[in-house]
Amino acid sequence: MINSLRGFRDLLPPESDLFARIETAAREVFGLYGYQEVRLPVLEKKELFVKSTGDTTDIVEKEMYAFTDGGGREVALRPEGTPGLVRAYIEHNLGQTGRNGKYFYIGPMFRAERPQAGRYREFTQIGAENIGNSSPYADAETIAMLVRLLEKAGVAGCSVVLNSLGCGDCRKAYRELLLAFLRGRSETLCEPCRGRIERNPLRALDCKTDGPALAETAPKLSLCPACAEHFSRTRELLKISGVEFQVNTSLVRGLDYYTRTVFEVRSAALGGQDAVCGGGRYDDLVRSMGGPAAPAIGWAVGVDRMALLLKDKPAPDTAPGAFVVSAAKEAGEKAFALLTALRAAGISSDYSSFDLSLKSQMRSADKSGASFALLIGEDELKAGAVTIKPLKEKSGQYTVPIKDAPAEIEKRLPKL
Ligand SMILES: [Zn+2]
Ligand SMILES: [Zn+2]
Repeated sequence: MINSLRGFRDLLPPESDLFARIETAAREVFGLYGYQEVRLPVLEKKELFVKSTGDTTDIVEKEMYAFTDGGGREVALRPEGTPGLVRAYIEHNLGQTGRNGKYFYIGPMFRAERPQAGRYREFTQIGAENIGNSSPYADAETIAMLVRLLEKAGVAGCSVVLNSLGCGDCRKAYRELLLAFLRGRSETLCEPCRGRIERNPLRALDCKTDGPALAETAPKLSLCPACAEHFSRTRELLKISGVEFQVNTSLVRGLDYYTRTVFEVRSAALGGQDAVCGGGRYDDLVRSMGGPAAPAIGWAVGVDRMALLLKDKPAPDTAPGAFVVSAAKEAGEKAFALLTALRAAGISSDYSSFDLSLKSQMRSADKSGASFALLIGEDELKAGAVTIKPLKEKSGQYTVPIKDAPAEIEKRLPKL
């Protein structure tokens, strides 16, 4: 007996249905906003993530599934989607050949975190990136789309938390200020922070151990006029989009590439503290990865987290509409043809095996949750008919010609 790896799981029904439902909602919303799908490899060169996600981030320092493959190449399972998308954008010159710079992806990501309740080493993310648009309109549109997607999928009580991290110019001055402050109190910082403040002082603000205390005392970033204007326009446009938000100046987000707008969505259902998802602007990433100067903004949402929020919501009924039963050995072929006709008419239909006993087939029909059993026995076979037996109501069974059965079932099934 070989079990699955620790931290990896099988996604079984009905949870897999929930994932599909979330993904369907996402695809609908992406369609409304003019986003197109990109399917990216799950395996990339390790240096892609070291360079883009950042070598001082927890993701790259501690959580990345990196290894040397049989050919001696340093590779990594993607821990997030943005680096791969940016690579593809550059590699295929999408700035010139693409339609509008709006892309989404849906797929598994990998992080070698310590497995804990509700956290897996393989998890599904839905992400969106708008590349090549520096305007606050893109910020507001992107955030509004995320809220729309969460609502569409059924996550209620969402609120957006917003901040601006400024551009390289405002960050340079702030970096020095913050570094001086952190050096003065490096004794009080956690081990990893002490090791990385010289390389990336901002990371300490995002640290789970040191962040909360530093949020109170650390010097605050002051935005340059252009960044202040961008942030204020973004807030105005969010109001026009009808998105509820609040500004929180200690929101940093754990990735190195963010500039200007960063945001998180929190849900009352998760205690309000934990972010369901988030994202931000990354105006310098595409160029720093060797591409054109293409400002961008994006976000990613964990489908596993969303599924956790939605698991108590009633799922749409996926039980078949009809269950076909052969009540006589010779009726098998007719029953099989009926099954084909039902499905061709768009009616979800199932059967167990036409070789089994009537009793066994009826037991399977009940277990399936189907609304109707359609029986063909010796009498029906002679008459070219089928008996329709409602499984959910007490009302009696009746017989119709086989050719009329699909229309009859369609008429009686609740409209979706
Ligand atoms: Zn600035
Ligand atoms: Zn720390």
